[in-house]
Amino acid sequence: MKLIEHFVDGKIIPGTSNKRGKVFNPATGEQEKEVRLASKSDLDQAVMIAKKAFNEWSLKPSLQRARVMFKFKELIEKNSNELTQLIVAEHGKVFEDAKGSLTRGLEVVEFACGIPHLLKGEFSENVGTSVDSWSIRQPLGVVAGITPFNFPAMVPMWMFPIAIACGNTFILKPSEKDPSCSIRLAELLKEAGLPDGVFNVVNGDKEAVDAILTNKDIKAVSFVGSTPIAKYIYENSAKNEKRVQALGGAKNHLVVMPDCDLDGAVNGLMGAAYGSAGERCMAQSVAVAVGDIGDELVKRLSKKAEALKVGPGMDKNSEMGPLVTKEHLEKVKSYVDLGVKEGAKLLVDGRNLKLQGYENGFYIGGCLFDHVNKDMRIYKEEIFGPVLSVVRVKTFEEAAKIINDHEYGNGVSIYTRDGDAGRTFANKIQVGMVGINVPIPVPMAFHSFGGWKRSLFGDSGMHGMEGIKFYTKLKTVTSRWPSGVRSNAEFVMPTMK
Ligand code: NAD
Repeated sequence: MKLIEHFVDGKIIPGTSNKRGKVFNPATGEQEKEVRLASKSDLDQAVMIAKKAFNEWSLKPSLQRARVMFKFKELIEKNSNELTQLIVAEHGKVFEDAKGSLTRGLEVVEFACGIPHLLKGEFSENVGTSVDSWSIRQPLGVVAGITPFNFPAMVPMWMFPIAIACGNTFILKPSEKDPSCSIRLAELLKEAGLPDGVFNVVNGDKEAVDAILTNKDIKAVSFVGSTPIAKYIYENSAKNEKRVQALGGAKNHLVVMPDCDLDGAVNGLMGAAYGSAGERCMAQSVAVAVGDIGDELVKRLSKKAEALKVGPGMDKNSEMGPLVTKEHLEKVKSYVDLGVKEGAKLLVDGRNLKLQGYENGFYIGGCLFDHVNKDMRIYKEEIFGPVLSVVRVKTFEEAAKIINDHEYGNGVSIYTRDGDAGRTFANKIQVGMVGINVPIPVPMAFHSFGGWKRSLFGDSGMHGMEGIKFYTKLKTVTSRWPSGVRSNAEFVMPTMK
């Protein structure tokens, strides 16, 4: 069975630990690979190497770092089919969706190609007589990324292209459920000319994560995953004096106003609720039907959810692939059981789906609940599967209130033809990423990605200028070159004259 190792100092290395994790092909349910899980000493060793690499990498002119990014971009494009297949083989999502997620990661690399411009500081001449002042942004040192299973290429690529382009060196601890893509990206970075030790992949579980949190040479931690772990990462990074951004889980709402283009809203919901089998932090898992639109909305949604084509990710006809693991499949099914017990009306039940030839795959069909209310656990908790809940409310204000009261605040959308409703929604809603007639409002690489409330712990989002700020520290220099006259000691607070 193939064993996935670490990638450190420019090469594949086994490390010292013999602990291994299982990697499945969700389409068949077969375990096809194993992954080595690092010990604390494996992680510490990788950090030592990254620390050494920082000395030279951080001094390289930003233009040279950008050139590595340009080459890396080319290599991703050239190898995109292979990378996409790796995602499908271990995550399960359908090929075109996996390719789209790789493209969203590629866009961050393209953004990082502009690093010489992005790192330009500010300069003020003559802030006092013959005194100039300027600010610069310098890299932090060794930084780490800990990533979830659901975007094995895109989420790591939210982090490392910018971190590296800023002059840092990087330790990536990918999800142990689908680690192969990260290793391949590391090989491509090397091929692009990145010096050894600048980008390292250390596979592992909690032990590796805890080693990251306690290693004194790691200056910043970027995390994406579930909310309880995000909180743990946030607290422990701060305790160990590290800069931290920790993105957590979500429960996203799509508000369907009575005046909207209903076909547009239904199609938007289908893709946003069931795409990637609902395993997206920006999945729209709650449709909020306002006024009298509810009956027509559920009628159209039911028809489409029943017709959803579920199958292996490599099958061109599949619209939705399997879930990532058997445990996760069981968890999602148990939420559907719970919804029925809680009194929601299950209109489409995907629990008993069986695919001929793929009987052991981790499949579930699309599920649709109507008459879900805000006190139900299926409304409050993140299910992370293809389960769409319809909540009916009377007014726009009621829709906005339930969204603002929810503990998560990652993404949200509204479908309406009313400009006033759209504008008020964008202005008042307590959520970090907002769509107006757009189902999944994921910001582009040159803007920043991040939710509010318990969907993000820390101060900065991913990529865009937030990424540049997160991976650099600000230095402000005040300078005078005296010509002739030397000043005497001054014992009062200096003010500029
Ligand atoms: P997860 O929290 O289980 O795992 C994320 C990472 O944390 C993995 O690398 C894992 O190895 C590590 N980890 C898991 N348990 C740990 C523990 N007890 N101690 C230390 N580290 C631990 O998340 P997941 O199941 O891989 O991913 C799905 C979750 O990620 C969902 O909640 C989803 O909403 C969230 N997510 C959020 C965003 C966002 O941008 N907000 C994006 C993608 C995914």
